[in-house]
Amino acid sequence: MKRESYEYTPLEIYHAVRANRPDISFDGFNNKVFLDDEERILTVRVTSRYEFNEYDDENREPIVPVDERDIINAEGDFVYRDAFVLRSRSQKAPSWKMYAFTGLDVSFSIGEGILDFCYTDFTKEQDSILLLGALFSSDKKREAIVRNQDEALEAESSNMERTLSSLDRYLYQSVYSSIFPPYIEHFTKNSIPYFIHYITELQKEMLRRIEFVFDEEFYPDELSKFLPCERYSLYSDVYGTPTDFTREERFTMNGNLNPRYLKRGNIDTSEIAQRLTSYEPTNKKSPLEKALGLEANRVKLFYHVPRFMAVEYRVSTIHDMLELEFTKMLELGTRLHKCKICGRYFIVKGNYVSDYCNRIREGQTRTCQQIGAQRKYDERLKTDEAVALFRKYYKRYYARTKVRQIKLDDFKHWNYKAVEMRDRCQSGEITPTEFEEWLYGSFRNRRKRE
Ligand SMILES: [Zn+2]
Repeated sequence: MKRESYEYTPLEIYHAVRANRPDISFDGFNNKVFLDDEERILTVRVTSRYEFNEYDDENREPIVPVDERDIINAEGDFVYRDAFVLRSRSQKAPSWKMYAFTGLDVSFSIGEGILDFCYTDFTKEQDSILLLGALFSSDKKREAIVRNQDEALEAESSNMERTLSSLDRYLYQSVYSSIFPPYIEHFTKNSIPYFIHYITELQKEMLRRIEFVFDEEFYPDELSKFLPCERYSLYSDVYGTPTDFTREERFTMNGNLNPRYLKRGNIDTSEIAQRLTSYEPTNKKSPLEKALGLEANRVKLFYHVPRFMAVEYRVSTIHDMLELEFTKMLELGTRLHKCKICGRYFIVKGNYVSDYCNRIREGQTRTCQQIGAQRKYDERLKTDEAVALFRKYYKRYYARTKVRQIKLDDFKHWNYKAVEMRDRCQSGEITPTEFEEWLYGSFRNRRKRE
């Protein structure tokens, strides 16, 4: 079909921006995602499909920007960007890696992934990848010929390596772009612009969406009576975006013995050791084993070697990850609040809503919370001082009206002005010293006569 002066609907554009293309697809990695819904923590197991244990060329340099090197070399938990815990799945640090994030478990509170992605300034590295893309696109397209699965994986890996090495600085800017990179089959002049457009659109849409759905100050008169999910339904209707989202959930009884994955319904960690150590095999079949014709100990073994329920999601694109996280925020009732200092949203933990986030803004050494606490303290001091000064002079001048040194009308007029000056001092417009000078100079004072 050929479209002539065809006007695309918002929904068609929405899908087109997110769709894979022959030259570039947005699902480079296929990662598993686990949810701890009690602790509200998401864990992304970043694939290591494209990493091999042995590389032919020992002298190759790792494709890792300098400040990301710590990620690979870190032992145990590594806290990244204040909100993400990175844990390596391999016992020892590999001598060479294609990419910093492969083979890591990335854990974070629900909402942090979206916020990190939304607040990343992707324009910073845009020009350099556009230039690289333009350079690569002049290469002649080579069709790899493969004869078996191993060769197919090898060809795929080499494309993946080229994709990651050409985009790495751009990708490493946010956690989601790092762990859900695209896959470039071959570079055309449009591959990189498509990818930049994809990132930009996802970011723009998600920022607009979280403001509409989670911001308590967004048209509160009309929207405060709505639940976040109802606000989302209205949002989709207004902007013509999809109201449903498909996510693939896999349930297994062969879950990992990791309490982060699924707590509910699984046995207690303290009980696991007790069950494992108390196993004593017998030669006698139990009644159930007899009835079902099973060998002895079969039933017992299932009790003493526990099996764990686990639920996992398969996620391959930034878009799918954002949607998974967003829908979980709706399901679990996550709340966001806007920081009064940096103006960015942060996740509300517990019942107490703070005015400030605990991030450190660029160019600052203290968190917004620390800056905010100092500000409040300073304000308090200013307020107290202004009130104390006002009271002191009020008492002094009022006493003089009693002995008729000051006329009551003059005093009333003064009082009116003094209240105004006190407010100006409290708001920081004038300093306490200036306020006192004004108070002192309002009437003739004894000390001046002396
Ligand atoms: Zn802040």
